[in-house]
Amino acid sequence: MRAVDCPCGLTLTGNSDEELLRRAFEHRDQHHADDNIPDEFVRETVVKNARDITEGATTSTP
Ligand SMILES: [Zn+2]
Repeated sequence: MRAVDCPCGLTLTGNSDEELLRRAFEHRDQHHADDNIPDEFVRETVVKNARDITEGATTSTP
């Protein structure tokens, strides 16, 4: 699985980068609707910060 941390502290997860991106957009629309975060910022954040995680885990191990 793939995971990325939102700047608000929430960890988003998905089975692929594509799903992760979709989740990130959903999260932005639901939780940051008033922040006017551009699509490009969401995409960059996911691409730069996405990491592999073990299935079932919500945190990464170094
Ligand atoms: Zn957030």
